[in-house]
Amino acid sequence: MAMYAFFYCAFFLGVSSEFVWKHHNNEELSAILEEVHENCPNITRVYALTEPSVRNVPLYVIEFSDTPGFHQPYKPEVKYVGNIHGNEVLGRELLLGLAYYLCEEYNKHDRRIRNLIHNTRIHLLPSMNPDGWQLSTDTGGQDFLLGRNNNHSVDLNRNFPDLDAITFEFERQGISHNNHLLKDLTRLAAPLEPETRAVMRWIMSVPFVLSAAMHGGDLVANYPYDESRSGAPVSEYSASPDDDTFRELAMTYAEAHADMASANRPGCRFGDESNAYNFGKQGGVTNGAAWYSLRGGMQDFNYLATNAFEVTLELGCQKYPYEKDLEKEWLRNKDALLAYIWKAHTGIKGIVKDDSGFIQNAVISVVNITDSVPRPIRHDITSGIYGDYYRLLTPGHYEVTASHPGYFPVSRVVTVPTHQTSARILNFKLEPTTSWFDDYTFGVYPHGLRDGQPRIYKRSLYHKVANAMLDKTH
Ligand SMILES: [Zn+2]
Repeated sequence: MAMYAFFYCAFFLGVSSEFVWKHHNNEELSAILEEVHENCPNITRVYALTEPSVRNVPLYVIEFSDTPGFHQPYKPEVKYVGNIHGNEVLGRELLLGLAYYLCEEYNKHDRRIRNLIHNTRIHLLPSMNPDGWQLSTDTGGQDFLLGRNNNHSVDLNRNFPDLDAITFEFERQGISHNNHLLKDLTRLAAPLEPETRAVMRWIMSVPFVLSAAMHGGDLVANYPYDESRSGAPVSEYSASPDDDTFRELAMTYAEAHADMASANRPGCRFGDESNAYNFGKQGGVTNGAAWYSLRGGMQDFNYLATNAFEVTLELGCQKYPYEKDLEKEWLRNKDALLAYIWKAHTGIKGIVKDDSGFIQNAVISVVNITDSVPRPIRHDITSGIYGDYYRLLTPGHYEVTASHPGYFPVSRVVTVPTHQTSARILNFKLEPTTSWFDDYTFGVYPHGLRDGQPRIYKRSLYHKVANAMLDKTH
C-alpha cells in the first residue's frame, strides 16, 4: 500500500516530461500550458482572451494563484506579455519556461515560489502576436522587421489609444484629472486590431497592479512615458508622475538580470556600428521617450487607462535567438523575472470601506513627504470590487488620502520601508457626509491634510464608455 501510494504520488507530481528549450509553435504553446496545468491543477488555470488573432489563433494565458479564476483582496495581480512583435520571440519562450518552472518548484515545495504564488495572482500571455510569429518563423526568423506586425500589417505596440496626448493636454490646462483616461478619448487614431482589443479588455477587466511587456532588439528595461510631450522623436525625457517608482521597477529587472545593468558589456550593433550604444552604462534602464518617442504603445496605455504599472523589457540584441541559446537566456533572466513579480509587494495596499461594506472606486491620492518640500504624485489609483487598492511606491514617507463622492476624505501618514516582501497595509474607513449633517456647521469634519479640494470623477461612466469603445468594430 505504501509503495502504491509512493508511485501514485510520483505519477502525479513528477511524471511530466522535461521542459525542452526550443521555439514552440502555436500548437505546442497551448500544449505546454495545458501540460503545466495538468501538473499543477490546483494553482493554475489556462484561458484564452476574448478575441483570437486575425488568423484565428487563440491568445492563451496561464494564471498562477491559489484561487485560480478569482481575485482576492490584498493579493496583487501581475502580468507578463510576450511576443507583441511577432519576430521578437525570446519573451515567448521565457514565459513558457517560467510557467513550467513555477509549477515544478511549487510541487517541489520551494518555499519562496510557494510564498509568491500564495500571495500573488500571476498571468502569463506568452504570445500576443501568434500570426506575426508564424510569418517570422516561416521566413527564417532573422529579418529585423518581417513578422513584427500582426496579419493586418499593423504594429500592435502602436495600436493602443493614445492617452498620453490627453494627459499632456490636461497637464497644460492644469486639470487635475490624471487617471483612467480612456473615457476622455474622443476618437481613435486607427481601428483597434483584434489582438489589441482582446488585450485591452483583459487589461480593463483584471485589476492588474504590475506588468511587463517583452521585446527584443536591445538589452534595456524601458519605463514610461514612451511618448514625448513636445512631439520630439528622440532624446526627450518624458517623466510620468511615478517616475521614481518606474525607475525602481525597471532597475529591479535590470539589476537582477545577468548583464542588463553591466557597464562593460558591448552595445547592440545593427549594421551601422556607431549605433552600438550600451544601456548598461546608465544602469540598464531608460525612459521610453528619452530613447525614442512612440505613440499608441501598450505600456503608457496600462498606466493611463488602469491602475497597472507596466515597463517594457528589451531582452537582447537578437530578436529571434538561436534555439541553442534559449536555455542560457533563461538562466540570464530567471532571477529578474521573479524579482520583478515580487515588486507587486512593495508600497502600500489596503481596503477602503464604510460601516456597511467595501467602497469601490475610491480614489487613493498620495503626497511624498520624505523631503522638506511635499511632492504630490499626480497619478491617483482607485479601489477595486472588494474596496482593495494597491499603490506601488519607493521607500519614504507619504501622506495618503482616500476619497469618494458622498464621503469625507481621510488622510493618513505612512512610511514605506526598504526591502519589502509585503506591501504595508493601510486601510481606510470613510464616513458618509450625510451622517455629519448636524456637525457640519461647526466645520469639524475630517478632510485631507493638504488638499481639501473635492475631486470630481464620474467613475460610474468609466466601464460604460470603455465598453462602448471596444464594441465599435469600424
Ligand atoms: Zn518590439
